[in-house]
Amino acid sequence: MAVKTVPLNREQLEALTERFPTPFHIYDEAAIRENARRLKAAFAWSPGFKEYFAVKAAPNPYLMKILKSEGFGSDCSSYPELLLSEKVGVVGEDIIFTSNDTPAYEYKKAAELGAIINLDDISHIAYLEKHVGLPELICCRYNPGPLKGGNAIIGHPEEAKYGFTREQLFEGYRMLRDKGVKRFGLHTMVASNELDGSYFVETAHILFELVGELSAELGIEFEFVNLGGGIGIPYKPEQEPVDLEAVGEGIRNLYEELIIGKGLKPLDIRLECGRMVTGPFGYLVSRVLHKKNTYKQFVGLDACMANLMRPALYGAYHHITVSGKENDPCDFVCDVTGSLCENNDKFAIDRAIPQVEIGDLVVIHDAGAHGHAMGFNYNAKLRSAELLLRESGDVVQIRRAETVEDHFATLNLDGLEAFEV
Ligand SMILES: *Cc1c(COP(=O)(O)O)cnc(C)c1O
Repeated sequence: MAVKTVPLNREQLEALTERFPTPFHIYDEAAIRENARRLKAAFAWSPGFKEYFAVKAAPNPYLMKILKSEGFGSDCSSYPELLLSEKVGVVGEDIIFTSNDTPAYEYKKAAELGAIINLDDISHIAYLEKHVGLPELICCRYNPGPLKGGNAIIGHPEEAKYGFTREQLFEGYRMLRDKGVKRFGLHTMVASNELDGSYFVETAHILFELVGELSAELGIEFEFVNLGGGIGIPYKPEQEPVDLEAVGEGIRNLYEELIIGKGLKPLDIRLECGRMVTGPFGYLVSRVLHKKNTYKQFVGLDACMANLMRPALYGAYHHITVSGKENDPCDFVCDVTGSLCENNDKFAIDRAIPQVEIGDLVVIHDAGAHGHAMGFNYNAKLRSAELLLRESGDVVQIRRAETVEDHFATLNLDGLEAFEV
């Protein structure tokens, strides 16, 4: 069972709303740090272990700074994400640039920062060479495709747009070797929000065996394997979190057998998780604006899918706490809605919650990754502020809410400039 608690009580949240009107996201620094340390501890047996935080999950420099101080790097996939990482001082090989369908200027920036470039396709070898030049260290992304013995959990990687086929991987590393690349890494990521820890052990198995085969055939050595992100979080209270310690131990056993046991050069274990790093430690706080009783019961919030898209986009479950009513019976079944003119703008459908009143504060859980970051401006909805509950117990604003001026900033309302075509 995942226990769904909120680090601030109703009085504290009410006090906060006097300074920061709802809706807002708030992140729990102490919990983020504790979790980061737990992840590192699970891989403490691997001296070069590194987690590259997937910036896309929560691209806020203050969160990135916290993670940097815990020893995390950045997993970037776009030019602005590289800039953000640079701004917080995470540069060089503390960045892995795992992009796809990548424009040359993004590769250029990654190379400028000394980031590890993770190629998504064999054709990008020539593309990178032509536009930027090949760096000394290169990583390639493997897509295992219709894996022999592939399990239901891995799903159908052959439908995914990412990565090299197995054959292309041999060909690609051969080309890179022949072009003078000296240092190598191997990457894969084929699942998202996976709660079965054995999946990650299985992924390590595939990569360790592949490292053996590639090394033998091509006479190259690997510095690291990157198992990607995708460690899931228990969005539903009845779900269990991933047993990180068991995953770490499982991978350790395989490492001893398939890397050390086979006389291969010791290599580093790398991850690029986003969701499990900040997801459970971020909350969307909103207020009940309206209650509506038609063919069913609706509770309308002052937040909408601009603040958290996952329920509307994926039908994702996000647990909801009515602040101050944590111990009340959940005997009110309703849809919890936002204000967008889209009927799928619902945070919950047919959810049993305590009897809510207009003005109640509602906390939507597990909004700390792919939450604020995914927000959009459809219906001219503005994205909310982000706050940080610091270890000291005080709260700081780490991103202000968008204003109407921000929203109009890309329009020139003073006149148009014509171009002859
Ligand atoms: C999205 C993504 C991640 C992070 O995934 P999480 O589910 O947030 O852990 C890591 N690597 C790549 C390449 C991604 O696209």
